[in-house]
Amino acid sequence: MSFVKKELLVSYNVIEDVFEYHDIDPEISEVYAYFEKSFQNLFESYASLFNIKDCCFYIKSNNICNAFASKRKGYNIIGITNGYPILLKRKLDKKYFQSILLASIINEKPISEAYCDLDEDSDFDFSKFILDCSIRFTFNHEFEHILQLNYDSNIREECLLHENIEMNEFNLKKHVWEFDADKIASFEVLKYVFSIYSKLKVKNDAKLKCLLFIGCASMIITINLFYFGVINQLEVKYSIKKVNFYIKENSHPHPLVRCLNIMEYYYDNVTSDFPRLKIAAQELLNNAVGIMKLYFDSLITDQDIISYFFNDLEMHLDDIHQYNQELYDFAIQDKAIRNILLSRKIAFE
Ligand SMILES: [Zn+2]
Repeated sequence: MSFVKKELLVSYNVIEDVFEYHDIDPEISEVYAYFEKSFQNLFESYASLFNIKDCCFYIKSNNICNAFASKRKGYNIIGITNGYPILLKRKLDKKYFQSILLASIINEKPISEAYCDLDEDSDFDFSKFILDCSIRFTFNHEFEHILQLNYDSNIREECLLHENIEMNEFNLKKHVWEFDADKIASFEVLKYVFSIYSKLKVKNDAKLKCLLFIGCASMIITINLFYFGVINQLEVKYSIKKVNFYIKENSHPHPLVRCLNIMEYYYDNVTSDFPRLKIAAQELLNNAVGIMKLYFDSLITDQDIISYFFNDLEMHLDDIHQYNQELYDFAIQDKAIRNILLSRKIAFE
């Protein structure tokens, strides 16, 4: 049997603190149902694709925004906290994307028209697309952890990888696994973007480019919500608590290191999968960061997040490049990652 009911795993003491949401405010319950269905459907299709058995998805009682992947007593478990759907959905609300069309003005006519066409398309919703790309990014990041745990024969019987940065818990192998999970997740977002494009009634290359820019923006917005410490805040007025820059420290690579890794791998795949679009790296960066700027200007009106982002990026760019290269060199020697790359038929040497 591929999927196991969470009630059964509770009775086996494999999982605990399962969150139930059926007796709460219908509006909130709808948000939980949407996330649960999205994760469950994705898990079912990827588990069958990679022949992963004994799987379970559940929502864990915890108000902090977090997601995790774990292998316990032979079961493959992906989970999110009950904080995650509510905190993320609120941050990615429609109202923060009302000015997104302004992203069109930095572009030439066909692209700016494509942004407007998408905006006017009743079958397309910017904020939903951004949310769905973000969900896909998180799901595929966690699923890659499941593959890592299954493709490394040295892994202990019980292992848990979660996404909140633990300070002062550095482990290079863990950083390498996070680096790999981000790369694969960004590639899966690219595939999702194309699947949405394929469903549009009227298609053209300019629209595909716009969707590719928005997909990239969704991932960097997600990472930056953590970088600037706003993701876990429920207040109406958000305050910034930036994660200081570091290299070989803490449980996860620094958000800026992750952002660059995600954008670079996304760009590499965009250019190899869609050479006819002739997207320049600068064009992708300008649009993705442009959308992120419009979003954050609307979310936090009294702070200039993008200038912090660019200043920090500029200040640490050499270190970020160097560290990502080092992580890559380690990644292609990691047994689990090598096996996954082979099974995904991705060339790495
Ligand atoms: Zn992770």
